[in-house]
Amino acid sequence: HEAKQQRSGFQRFRTEQRLDVAARLSLLGDLRRAIDDPDQVTLNYQPKVAVDTGALVGVEALARWTHPERGPISPAEFIPVLEVTNLMHRFTERVLTTALRQTRTWLDAGHRVPVAVNVSARSLLDPQFPATVAALLAETGVPGDLLSIEVTEYALMSDPDTAIRALQHLREAGVKASIDDYGTGYSSMTYLKVLPIAELKIDRSFVQDLAHDQSSRALVASTVELGHRLGLTVVAEGVEDEEAAEALREIGCDTAQGYHFARPLTAEALTARLEETLQTA
Ligand code: C2E
Ligand code: MG
Ligand code: MG
Ligand code: MG
Repeated sequence: HEAKQQRSGFQRFRTEQRLDVAARLSLLGDLRRAIDDPDQVTLNYQPKVAVDTGALVGVEALARWTHPERGPISPAEFIPVLEVTNLMHRFTERVLTTALRQTRTWLDAGHRVPVAVNVSARSLLDPQFPATVAALLAETGVPGDLLSIEVTEYALMSDPDTAIRALQHLREAGVKASIDDYGTGYSSMTYLKVLPIAELKIDRSFVQDLAHDQSSRALVASTVELGHRLGLTVVAEGVEDEEAAEALREIGCDTAQGYHFARPLTAEALTARLEETLQTA
Protein backbone atom coordinates (compact mmCIF):
# COMPACT_ATOMS: atom_id res chain seq x y z
CA HIS A 1 0.00 0.00 0.00
CA GLU A 2 2.78 2.39 1.00
CA ALA A 3 4.76 1.54 -2.13
CA LYS A 4 1.71 2.36 -4.25
CA GLN A 5 1.34 5.75 -2.54
CA GLN A 6 4.97 6.50 -3.13
CA ARG A 7 4.62 5.54 -6.74
CA SER A 8 1.68 7.86 -7.28
CA GLY A 9 3.62 10.67 -5.56
CA PHE A 10 6.54 9.96 -7.81
CA GLN A 11 4.32 9.94 -10.89
CA ARG A 12 2.79 13.24 -9.88
CA PHE A 13 6.29 14.67 -9.50
CA ARG A 14 7.25 13.34 -12.93
CA THR A 15 4.17 14.88 -14.53
CA GLU A 16 4.84 18.30 -12.99
CA GLN A 17 8.48 18.11 -13.96
CA ARG A 18 7.54 17.23 -17.53
CA LEU A 19 5.13 20.16 -17.69
CA ASP A 20 7.86 22.39 -16.36
CA VAL A 21 10.27 21.13 -19.01
CA ALA A 22 7.61 21.60 -21.70
CA ALA A 23 6.92 25.16 -20.52
CA ARG A 24 10.63 25.95 -20.55
CA LEU A 25 11.04 24.47 -24.02
CA SER A 26 8.15 26.49 -25.41
CA LEU A 27 9.54 29.65 -23.78
CA LEU A 28 12.93 28.88 -25.34
CA GLY A 29 11.40 28.33 -28.77
CA ASP A 30 9.58 31.65 -28.48
CA LEU A 31 12.77 33.35 -27.30
CA ARG A 32 14.77 31.98 -30.20
CA ARG A 33 12.33 33.76 -32.54
CA ALA A 34 12.11 36.87 -30.32
CA ILE A 35 15.81 37.71 -29.93
CA ASP A 36 16.21 39.46 -33.26
CA ASP A 37 12.71 40.94 -33.31
CA PRO A 38 12.87 44.64 -32.39
CA ASP A 39 9.15 44.59 -31.51
CA GLN A 40 9.62 41.86 -28.92
CA VAL A 41 12.98 42.41 -27.24
CA THR A 42 13.73 46.01 -26.30
CA LEU A 43 15.88 47.79 -23.74
CA ASN A 44 14.90 50.19 -21.02
CA TYR A 45 17.49 52.53 -19.56
CA GLN A 46 17.51 53.34 -15.86
CA PRO A 47 19.43 56.45 -14.77
CA LYS A 48 22.30 56.15 -12.31
CA VAL A 49 22.69 59.46 -10.46
CA ALA A 50 25.32 61.11 -8.27
CA VAL A 51 24.11 60.86 -4.66
CA ASP A 52 25.23 64.41 -3.76
CA THR A 53 23.94 66.35 -6.80
CA GLY A 54 21.37 64.06 -8.42
CA ALA A 55 23.19 64.50 -11.77
CA LEU A 56 22.96 61.68 -14.28
CA VAL A 57 26.21 59.69 -14.33
CA GLY A 58 25.08 56.88 -16.61
CA VAL A 59 22.32 54.38 -17.36
CA GLU A 60 21.79 50.66 -16.87
CA ALA A 61 20.31 48.82 -19.86
CA LEU A 62 17.52 46.42 -18.77
CA ALA A 63 16.05 43.89 -21.18
CA ARG A 64 12.29 43.83 -21.82
CA TRP A 65 10.47 41.07 -23.66
CA THR A 66 6.94 41.58 -24.92
CA HIS A 67 5.59 38.18 -25.96
CA PRO A 68 3.07 38.42 -28.85
CA GLU A 69 0.42 36.44 -26.89
CA ARG A 70 1.52 36.54 -23.26
CA GLY A 71 2.49 40.21 -23.09
CA PRO A 72 5.44 41.43 -20.99
CA ILE A 73 7.65 38.69 -19.48
CA SER A 74 10.10 39.73 -16.76
CA PRO A 75 13.84 39.17 -17.25
CA ALA A 76 13.74 37.49 -13.83
CA GLU A 77 11.66 34.79 -15.60
CA PHE A 78 13.38 34.41 -18.96
CA ILE A 79 17.07 35.11 -18.19
CA PRO A 80 17.44 31.95 -16.04
CA VAL A 81 15.88 29.90 -18.86
CA LEU A 82 18.30 31.37 -21.42
CA GLU A 83 21.26 31.00 -19.08
CA VAL A 84 21.28 27.19 -19.31
CA THR A 85 21.50 27.26 -23.12
CA ASN A 86 23.89 28.65 -25.72
CA LEU A 87 21.13 30.98 -26.86
CA MET A 88 22.34 33.22 -24.01
CA HIS A 89 25.32 34.23 -26.18
CA ARG A 90 23.05 35.50 -28.95
CA PHE A 91 20.90 37.33 -26.43
CA THR A 92 23.88 39.06 -24.81
CA GLU A 93 25.16 40.08 -28.22
CA ARG A 94 21.76 41.47 -29.15
CA VAL A 95 21.58 43.50 -25.91
CA LEU A 96 25.12 44.82 -26.33
CA THR A 97 24.47 45.78 -29.96
CA THR A 98 21.26 47.63 -29.12
CA ALA A 99 22.80 49.41 -26.11
CA LEU A 100 25.89 50.50 -28.07
CA ARG A 101 23.86 51.72 -31.05
CA GLN A 102 21.76 53.78 -28.64
CA THR A 103 24.90 55.15 -26.98
CA ARG A 104 26.14 56.09 -30.47
CA THR A 105 22.84 57.86 -31.22
CA TRP A 106 23.12 59.83 -27.97
CA LEU A 107 26.76 60.71 -28.74
CA ASP A 108 25.75 61.98 -32.18
CA ALA A 109 23.14 64.19 -30.47
CA GLY A 110 25.80 65.57 -28.12
CA HIS A 111 25.02 63.43 -25.05
CA ARG A 112 27.82 61.42 -23.48
CA VAL A 113 25.92 58.69 -21.61
CA PRO A 114 27.91 55.81 -20.08
CA VAL A 115 25.90 52.59 -20.39
CA ALA A 116 26.02 49.47 -18.21
CA VAL A 117 24.96 46.09 -19.60
CA ASN A 118 24.16 43.04 -17.46
CA VAL A 119 26.26 40.05 -18.46
CA SER A 120 25.45 36.58 -17.19
CA ALA A 121 28.00 33.98 -16.08
CA ARG A 122 27.65 31.96 -19.28
CA SER A 123 28.43 34.99 -21.45
CA LEU A 124 31.26 36.31 -19.30
CA LEU A 125 32.94 32.89 -19.32
CA ASP A 126 32.51 32.45 -23.10
CA PRO A 127 36.08 32.62 -24.49
CA GLN A 128 34.77 34.72 -27.43
CA PHE A 129 33.16 37.34 -25.20
CA PRO A 130 35.95 39.97 -24.92
CA ALA A 131 36.55 39.83 -28.70
CA THR A 132 32.80 40.18 -29.37
CA VAL A 133 32.67 43.29 -27.16
CA ALA A 134 35.74 44.78 -28.87
CA ALA A 135 34.21 44.13 -32.30
CA LEU A 136 30.90 45.78 -31.33
CA LEU A 137 32.72 48.83 -29.93
CA ALA A 138 34.66 49.15 -33.19
CA GLU A 139 31.52 48.68 -35.29
CA THR A 140 29.54 51.35 -33.43
CA GLY A 141 32.50 53.67 -32.83
CA VAL A 142 31.62 53.95 -29.15
CA PRO A 143 34.67 54.57 -26.91
CA GLY A 144 35.22 51.61 -24.55
CA ASP A 145 35.08 53.83 -21.48
CA LEU A 146 31.40 54.53 -22.18
CA LEU A 147 30.59 50.85 -21.65
CA SER A 148 30.61 48.88 -18.42
CA ILE A 149 29.35 45.42 -17.62
CA GLU A 150 27.49 44.26 -14.51
CA VAL A 151 28.28 40.76 -13.33
CA THR A 152 27.14 38.91 -10.23
CA GLU A 153 29.38 37.40 -7.59
CA TYR A 154 28.19 34.00 -8.78
CA ALA A 155 29.50 34.66 -12.30
CA LEU A 156 32.86 35.69 -10.89
CA MET A 157 33.21 32.84 -8.42
CA SER A 158 32.08 29.92 -10.60
CA ASP A 159 35.36 30.09 -12.56
CA PRO A 160 37.46 32.94 -11.14
CA ASP A 161 40.51 32.43 -13.39
CA THR A 162 38.49 32.65 -16.61
CA ALA A 163 36.43 35.56 -15.23
CA ILE A 164 39.57 37.50 -14.25
CA ARG A 165 41.09 36.94 -17.70
CA ALA A 166 37.90 38.15 -19.41
CA LEU A 167 37.73 41.25 -17.20
CA GLN A 168 41.39 42.04 -17.92
CA HIS A 169 40.76 41.78 -21.66
CA LEU A 170 37.77 44.09 -21.38
CA ARG A 171 39.74 46.55 -19.30
CA GLU A 172 42.33 46.77 -22.07
CA ALA A 173 39.48 48.01 -24.30
CA GLY A 174 38.53 50.56 -21.62
CA VAL A 175 35.46 48.59 -20.47
CA LYS A 176 34.92 48.61 -16.70
CA ALA A 177 33.13 46.00 -14.58
CA SER A 178 30.76 46.22 -11.61
CA ILE A 179 29.76 43.52 -9.16
CA ASP A 180 25.94 43.51 -9.22
CA ASP A 181 23.71 42.56 -6.27
CA TYR A 182 26.75 42.88 -4.03
CA GLY A 183 26.29 41.27 -0.63
CA THR A 184 23.91 38.51 -1.71
CA GLY A 185 26.46 36.04 -3.10
CA TYR A 186 29.70 34.51 -1.99
CA SER A 187 31.65 37.68 -1.27
CA SER A 188 35.18 36.52 -0.71
CA MET A 189 37.71 39.09 0.48
CA THR A 190 40.43 37.25 -1.44
CA TYR A 191 38.69 37.79 -4.76
CA LEU A 192 37.76 41.38 -4.00
CA LYS A 193 41.50 41.95 -3.75
CA VAL A 194 42.40 40.42 -7.13
CA LEU A 195 39.34 41.05 -9.33
CA PRO A 196 39.82 43.80 -11.93
CA ILE A 197 36.58 45.60 -11.09
CA ALA A 198 35.75 49.29 -10.78
CA GLU A 199 32.41 49.34 -8.97
CA LEU A 200 30.33 47.64 -6.30
CA LYS A 201 26.54 47.74 -6.60
CA ILE A 202 24.98 47.16 -3.20
CA ASP A 203 21.90 44.94 -3.54
CA ARG A 204 18.57 46.64 -3.02
CA SER A 205 17.69 44.34 -0.08
CA PHE A 206 20.23 46.30 2.02
CA VAL A 207 19.18 49.68 0.62
CA GLN A 208 15.42 49.46 0.99
CA ASP A 209 15.24 49.65 4.80
CA LEU A 210 18.42 51.61 5.19
CA ALA A 211 16.76 54.52 6.98
CA HIS A 212 14.96 52.35 9.55
CA ASP A 213 17.16 49.33 10.10
CA GLN A 214 20.43 49.81 11.97
CA SER A 215 22.03 46.61 10.66
CA SER A 216 21.28 47.49 7.02
CA ARG A 217 22.77 50.92 7.64
CA ALA A 218 25.88 49.40 9.22
CA LEU A 219 26.30 46.99 6.29
CA VAL A 220 25.88 49.72 3.67
CA ALA A 221 28.22 52.14 5.46
CA SER A 222 30.91 49.44 5.86
CA THR A 223 30.57 48.39 2.22
CA VAL A 224 30.94 52.00 1.05
CA GLU A 225 34.06 52.37 3.20
CA LEU A 226 35.47 49.02 2.00
CA GLY A 227 34.81 49.94 -1.63
CA HIS A 228 36.41 53.36 -1.27
CA ARG A 229 39.48 51.93 0.43
CA LEU A 230 39.87 49.55 -2.50
CA GLY A 231 39.54 52.47 -4.92
CA LEU A 232 36.09 51.42 -6.17
CA THR A 233 32.96 53.42 -6.90
CA VAL A 234 29.97 52.32 -4.83
CA VAL A 235 26.41 52.32 -6.16
CA ALA A 236 23.25 51.72 -4.13
CA GLU A 237 20.43 50.09 -6.11
CA GLY A 238 16.73 50.12 -5.24
CA VAL A 239 16.54 53.63 -3.72
CA GLU A 240 12.79 54.11 -3.39
CA ASP A 241 12.39 57.14 -1.11
CA GLU A 242 14.00 60.38 0.05
CA GLU A 243 14.87 58.85 3.44
CA ALA A 244 17.08 56.23 1.81
CA ALA A 245 18.62 58.88 -0.47
CA GLU A 246 19.39 61.08 2.55
CA ALA A 247 20.96 58.16 4.44
CA LEU A 248 23.17 57.45 1.41
CA ARG A 249 24.27 61.11 1.34
CA GLU A 250 25.23 60.91 5.04
CA ILE A 251 27.12 57.67 4.46
CA GLY A 252 28.97 59.12 1.44
CA CYS A 253 27.87 56.59 -1.16
CA ASP A 254 28.83 57.78 -4.68
CA THR A 255 25.97 56.76 -6.94
CA ALA A 256 22.32 55.76 -6.58
CA GLN A 257 19.72 54.08 -8.70
CA GLY A 258 16.07 53.47 -7.97
CA TYR A 259 12.45 54.46 -8.47
CA HIS A 260 12.99 57.54 -6.25
CA PHE A 261 15.22 59.05 -8.95
CA ALA A 262 13.89 57.38 -12.08
CA ARG A 263 12.28 54.18 -13.28
CA PRO A 264 13.75 52.26 -16.19
CA LEU A 265 12.79 54.41 -19.23
CA THR A 266 12.42 53.79 -22.94
CA ALA A 267 15.20 55.24 -25.10
CA GLU A 268 12.77 57.96 -26.24
CA ALA A 269 11.84 58.93 -22.67
CA LEU A 270 15.48 59.03 -21.62
CA THR A 271 16.35 61.16 -24.66
CA ALA A 272 13.58 63.61 -23.67
CA ARG A 273 15.13 63.87 -20.19
CA LEU A 274 18.56 64.51 -21.65
CA GLU A 275 17.16 67.30 -23.81
CA GLU A 276 15.27 68.83 -20.83
CA THR A 277 18.44 68.87 -18.73
CA LEU A 278 20.25 70.63 -21.57
CA GLN A 279 17.57 73.30 -21.80
CA THR A 280 17.64 74.10 -18.08
CA ALA A 281 21.44 74.01 -17.83
P1 C2E B 1 19.61 43.92 -11.78
O1 C2E B 1 20.70 43.98 -12.78
O2 C2E B 1 20.00 43.89 -10.34
O3 C2E B 1 18.66 45.15 -12.13
C1 C2E B 1 17.95 45.87 -11.18
C2 C2E B 1 16.49 45.48 -11.14
O4 C2E B 1 15.83 46.25 -10.14
C3 C2E B 1 15.74 45.78 -12.43
O5 C2E B 1 14.71 44.80 -12.57
C4 C2E B 1 15.13 47.15 -12.15
O6 C2E B 1 13.99 47.43 -12.95
C5 C2E B 1 14.76 46.99 -10.71
N1 C2E B 1 14.70 48.26 -9.97
C6 C2E B 1 15.29 49.44 -10.25
N2 C2E B 1 15.03 50.36 -9.31
C7 C2E B 1 14.25 49.76 -8.39
C8 C2E B 1 13.63 50.21 -7.16
O7 C2E B 1 13.75 51.34 -6.71
N3 C2E B 1 12.88 49.27 -6.50
C9 C2E B 1 12.72 47.99 -6.95
N4 C2E B 1 11.97 47.18 -6.22
N5 C2E B 1 13.29 47.54 -8.10
C10 C2E B 1 14.05 48.42 -8.80
P2 C2E B 1 14.42 44.08 -13.97
O8 C2E B 1 14.55 45.08 -15.07
O9 C2E B 1 13.15 43.33 -13.81
O10 C2E B 1 15.62 43.07 -14.12
C11 C2E B 1 15.79 42.01 -13.21
C12 C2E B 1 17.12 41.34 -13.37
O11 C2E B 1 17.18 40.67 -14.65
C13 C2E B 1 18.31 42.30 -13.38
O12 C2E B 1 18.67 42.61 -12.05
C14 C2E B 1 19.34 41.47 -14.10
O13 C2E B 1 19.95 40.55 -13.22
C15 C2E B 1 18.49 40.69 -15.09
N6 C2E B 1 18.58 41.34 -16.43
C16 C2E B 1 17.87 42.38 -16.94
N7 C2E B 1 18.26 42.66 -18.20
C17 C2E B 1 19.25 41.78 -18.49
C18 C2E B 1 20.08 41.56 -19.65
O14 C2E B 1 20.02 42.27 -20.67
N8 C2E B 1 20.99 40.54 -19.57
C19 C2E B 1 21.13 39.77 -18.44
N9 C2E B 1 22.04 38.78 -18.45
N10 C2E B 1 20.38 39.96 -17.34
C20 C2E B 1 19.45 40.95 -17.37
MG1 MG C 1 22.33 45.12 -13.01
MG1 MG D 1 21.43 44.52 -9.18
MG1 MG E 1 19.11 42.96 -8.02
